[in-house]
Amino acid sequence: MCMQRIIHSWAWGVLLLLAVALSSSASAAPTITYRLSMPEPHTHYFEVEMRLQGFRGKHLDLTMPVWTPGSYLIREFPRNVEAFEAQAGNRQVSASKLDKNTWRVATGGKDVTVTYKVYAFELTVRTSFLDASHGYLNGTSVFMYPEGHKDLPSTLTVVPFQGWSKVSTGLPPVPGQPFTYRAANYDVLADSPIEIGNHEILSFESNGVKHEVAMYGDANYDPARLTADMKRVTDESTKIFGELPVDYYLFIVHNLPAGGGGLEHLNSTTLQATRTAYGTERGYQGFLTLVAHEYFHLWNVKRLRPAGLGPFDYNQEVYTNLLWVSEGFTSYYADLIMRRAGLLSEREHLDKIASSITSVENTPGNKVVSAAESSFNTWIKQYRPDENSYNTHLSYYSKGALLGMLLDLEILKATNGTKSLDDALKALYDEYYKKKDRGYTDREFQQGIEKFTGRSMEDFFRRYVYGKETPDYNAFLSTVGIRLTDVNAGTNQPLLGAAISTASGKPVVSIVTRNGSAWQAGLNVNDEIIAVNGYRVSEDINRSIPAYAVGDVLELVISRSGQLMVIPVKLLKDQTLKYRAELVPSPTEAQRKAYQKWTNPK
Ligand SMILES: [Zn+2]
Repeated sequence: MCMQRIIHSWAWGVLLLLAVALSSSASAAPTITYRLSMPEPHTHYFEVEMRLQGFRGKHLDLTMPVWTPGSYLIREFPRNVEAFEAQAGNRQVSASKLDKNTWRVATGGKDVTVTYKVYAFELTVRTSFLDASHGYLNGTSVFMYPEGHKDLPSTLTVVPFQGWSKVSTGLPPVPGQPFTYRAANYDVLADSPIEIGNHEILSFESNGVKHEVAMYGDANYDPARLTADMKRVTDESTKIFGELPVDYYLFIVHNLPAGGGGLEHLNSTTLQATRTAYGTERGYQGFLTLVAHEYFHLWNVKRLRPAGLGPFDYNQEVYTNLLWVSEGFTSYYADLIMRRAGLLSEREHLDKIASSITSVENTPGNKVVSAAESSFNTWIKQYRPDENSYNTHLSYYSKGALLGMLLDLEILKATNGTKSLDDALKALYDEYYKKKDRGYTDREFQQGIEKFTGRSMEDFFRRYVYGKETPDYNAFLSTVGIRLTDVNAGTNQPLLGAAISTASGKPVVSIVTRNGSAWQAGLNVNDEIIAVNGYRVSEDINRSIPAYAVGDVLELVISRSGQLMVIPVKLLKDQTLKYRAELVPSPTEAQRKAYQKWTNPK
């Protein structure tokens, strides 16, 4: 072999080695493929097959989340998993649990296929459900991910039950492969709920983007009117941020005998509706307001988000003081969007403002926790109400909505009606989502508002966000020419201060209001009311309270844990506030301009 040939063959050898190294590294790139089937939907079991290829190392840890983003409660999804098995080639390999939500599979460096079943029989927007009529799932409660590899893309093939022809999800489909989808990473898979069955699919276009509505269950909606009105909502929402950051959007709607509420996702949402609600103006407006709320989340929380709310730690609670912004502002904007879209009249909007203030200020918990504390404690409070919640807790939804309005009015005032909270949120969205793609801190959020008020908001945040002071609502509302009055002022009516519900046909105390008549007299939750002033009662005694005067004493015969006793209840004055909001009769030019910018911005 001459020298030249040796050099030649050496060079070829290197090239060959390089090629082998490259191709082996290409074939070694780990891939994840899920297959979801439901051969016996009446048993409520989804069957999951997960193929993991190209993962090296002796073992692989597979994790299932214990909660689902947007609904801040540990729900322990792995409790519904059974029949977990792993195979490499034709051989079963050992698998064991490391903790409540992690399975360790002894792969020995080989490709493995894992199978398991998930019991799904909880039809809420944040869980999964399967029966003979349809399937619905949230990825967090069905799909596992290999620990340390949440960033890997995956492919999912859904195999619907025989006779089911539709699959609706926000995941992008793989062209040419039926019911097969691509997820850019686990966060996307987890954040794309899936509806499977024979549901009706409505569609409309908004801002050049296809929107679909997957309607499960019969309901009395008019498809043409509904999609036209949903489009008004989505068009109006997009104006606020100036862009729609998705190329497809899906509403999954579950029409049920009774229902309400929704859960936001990356490019979709799931809503529950009462199937007869579309037939009344109030019910219809309520549904569209829910649409507005969840759609606004597309920006506020799914993209513009507090630090801690994405990327998520699915293993445990994540904390933020800022749900009053993420949820409260979203509720505030839902009404404002409805107003701007012409789906809420001026009178209805004013009534909503008045009733929101009334509700917050009448809740005793409003004096116990701040909006920031309420947000932080969501994991132990918001989704775990009990008989004392009314006295100790305040929803960051309702308080946050009021704070959103007050900050909006502050910006309108500071800028002579030329800027609003819309502009502040858009600037925060540009800065923290588009530019930095990270969550904002408490301080950064405050600074984002201060940029538009042009002055320190330290005092506002200290008193109303981190503190529990009652704002002077009229001082804020006067910016847009609204006047709030308490129509209960000057009345002198008695109030029991206890809610009574019927348990096994008997009137039983269900809530005792802090510092009310019943609270002072020592009436307890679960006390059965048997008689008042010597006469037997069988219904809610609150109905007869207006017949008495402040200062009267009622002799209540009650049964407490089976023991009969007499409790004298001295009736105290009803301190309940009842606000009404009106436009001032002769607004100034500044008020007119600010009101216009607020409710009908150009
Ligand atoms: Zn929400």
